[in-house]
Amino acid sequence: MDSYARRIEETVNLLKDAKKVSAFTGAGISTESGISDFRSPGGVWDRYRIVTYQEFLASHDARVEYWKMKKELFYEMKDARSNKAHLALAELEKIGKLDCLITQNIDGLHQEAGNTNVIELHGTNRKAKCVMCGKIWPIEEIQTILETGNLDPHCDVCNGFIKPATISFGQSMPEKEILKAYECAFKCDLFLMIGSSLQVEPAASIPREAHRAGAKLIFVNRTETPYDSLATVLFRESAGQVLGEMVEGVKR
Ligand SMILES: [Zn+2]
Repeated sequence: MDSYARRIEETVNLLKDAKKVSAFTGAGISTESGISDFRSPGGVWDRYRIVTYQEFLASHDARVEYWKMKKELFYEMKDARSNKAHLALAELEKIGKLDCLITQNIDGLHQEAGNTNVIELHGTNRKAKCVMCGKIWPIEEIQTILETGNLDPHCDVCNGFIKPATISFGQSMPEKEILKAYECAFKCDLFLMIGSSLQVEPAASIPREAHRAGAKLIFVNRTETPYDSLATVLFRESAGQVLGEMVEGVKR
C-alpha cells in the first residue's frame, strides 16, 4: 500500500472513531471551482488596489473603485459551482460526521453544496449590506443597480452606503462568528483543515486552538503551513480527490 492510500485509511479510521468533527476551509477549497485565490499571483490583488473600509467610508472615488472590482467578480462568482471537496463536506454533515464548518471564504459554495452549519468568518459575497442601518439585499439586486452605471449605491431606507456583506481590510472581524468558530474548534475531537495556508490571524489560530484543546488535526493543503507539525495526517494532494475518497471510505 502506498503512503497516500495509508493516509486515506488512517483518516477514515479517525473519522469513524471521532465523536465530534469540525472543519475549517480557506481559498484553496474553492480554486477547483474557478474562484480566484485573492493572494495568489494573477489573483484579484494583482489586478486591483486594496480599498480599506476606512477609505470606502470616506470617499466616493474609493467606493466606485471597490464596486468596480466586485461588479467584475460577480460573474466569476455567479458561474462558480461547488466542487467535489465542497460536496464531500456536505455529505459528511449529512451522515452525521461533521458538526460545524468554519470558512474564510466569501463565495457561499458550502451552502450551495448543502452544508447547513457554516460559520463565515469573512462574511459573504452573496449579499450586500447597508453600513448604517444594516439592511441586507441579495447581491443580484445590487448588481442590477451597478449595471445601470451607478457604482456608489445608497440605501433606500437611510441613504447609507451599501457594501458587499464581506469583511473588508480595516474592518473588525465579526465578534459573534469568531466566538462561534472557537466554540466549534474547542468542542471537537477531530478537526479537518482544508485549503488554507493559515497565514491570516485570528483565523490561523483556530486549528492551533483545536489542537490545544485535544483534537487531532488533519490538514489538506497544497502548500506548507506554520502548523503542519501539529497535524496527525497531512495531504498535499487535491482537496476534491482527498475528501471524496475520505467520505467514500467512511460510508463503506
Ligand atoms: Zn440603510
